[in-house]
Amino acid sequence: MFWDRESETLARPALERFQLGQLQETVRRVAQRVPFYQRKFAELGIKPEDIKSLEDARRLPFTASADLFAAYPDGLLAVAADEPVRLHTSSGTTGKPKAVFFSRNDINNSAELMARSLVMTGVTHKDVLQNMMSYGLFTGGLVMHYGAERVGCLVIPAGPGTSERQLMLMQDFHTTAVHILPSYALYFARFLEQRGVNPRKDLKLRKAFVGAEPHTEETRRRIEEAYGIDVYNSYGLTEMNGPGIGFECEHKAGLHLWEDHFLIEIVDPVSGQPLPEGERGELVLTTLRREAMPLLRYRTHDITSIIPEPCACGRTHRRLNRIVGRADDMLIVRGVNIFPQQIERILMSTPQVGPNYLIVLEGLDDMAIQVELASAGFDGQVEHLSGLRHQLAEKFKTELYVRPKVELVPAGSLPVTEGKAKRVIDRRSL
Ligand code: AMP
Ligand code: ZN
Repeated sequence: MFWDRESETLARPALERFQLGQLQETVRRVAQRVPFYQRKFAELGIKPEDIKSLEDARRLPFTASADLFAAYPDGLLAVAADEPVRLHTSSGTTGKPKAVFFSRNDINNSAELMARSLVMTGVTHKDVLQNMMSYGLFTGGLVMHYGAERVGCLVIPAGPGTSERQLMLMQDFHTTAVHILPSYALYFARFLEQRGVNPRKDLKLRKAFVGAEPHTEETRRRIEEAYGIDVYNSYGLTEMNGPGIGFECEHKAGLHLWEDHFLIEIVDPVSGQPLPEGERGELVLTTLRREAMPLLRYRTHDITSIIPEPCACGRTHRRLNRIVGRADDMLIVRGVNIFPQQIERILMSTPQVGPNYLIVLEGLDDMAIQVELASAGFDGQVEHLSGLRHQLAEKFKTELYVRPKVELVPAGSLPVTEGKAKRVIDRRSL
């Protein structure tokens, strides 16, 4: 199913011609209106006329998160200060956030891409979508909301309320789809189990859109099995609209990134040099249609690769592989590079293990992994526990080349946050 078949299946040459036109327009706009880019262009000695092909995008300056922090609150606006109609900020944990402004057209475009994304998974106006993401400054609430309304779904703006209330809404309004953090989806499955609710029989749920935090294929499978539903990966970031920019189609084989709105590059996270298509590196995005706050070559820090092959669904917009993590999430333990996702993959493919875990780095350079046991199917016998601990330690050793200390803890005993899960605590005295 298509929301906008023509745009979604545009032949590559036409799509690329369109991208070039939009890129040139964006570069002209920021060169005229945004002092930050004027300065950068002057430093690099480039003029808008120099951008003659998509490859020329490589000559443009990067935009870093630090540039957004420095520009706070509105230093990167490309329209008059009274023109934007909405503000979102990134979920910064400390200090000032990154502020992103939207014009009326920007809002319209973000809803349009969200609608494309939902319909691509089979969502129709008959669906009842319960949006369990936060409705504050975070984009996960409003951007999804507008897109689902556009499709004609009944949208329930539940936000991240208590599990009690989520369940009541789900039952009373026959929710068919949820937008939810993957960590919360696993937690909520356990809540249903404790309530004696069988999602396959007692709920109308068919689909979940999970994103906003890194998660593995194994986690997706766990959620699918726990609820008996289809789970689709949804990627987005505040700086680029929020959700609805990278989304899986019915084939669940990578995230189609809407290339008529964003230019994709994959670069070496250290050198910033472009990498050949298919190689894994840092995703860099340029907005092609943004009015209020266009961003050139924004360093997302997200590590992924482009899937060059066309998708069976017929969409021509290329897919990204599942995000393996953020460049700044990478842990270096005893000289070995480790992504928390590698640890999650091992844990989530081990049936005796529950959904929640915590990586604790301490001492000089020691790694401990606290792992919740699954609530069901474990007899708690000491020798079985030590067997499991040993089995996990071996798997970690083989996969990560370090042997962490594995601590098994009872189901439900690790902290659960309302927002994105916090998986790593680093208190090393390095
Ligand atoms: P925010 O701006 O708060 O929405 O955070 C955006 C960041 O969340 C992205 O840059 C990614 O690091 C992460 N993120 C969002 N969606 C996904 C996803 N589906 N898979 C992995 N990471 C994600
Ligand atoms: Zn597809």
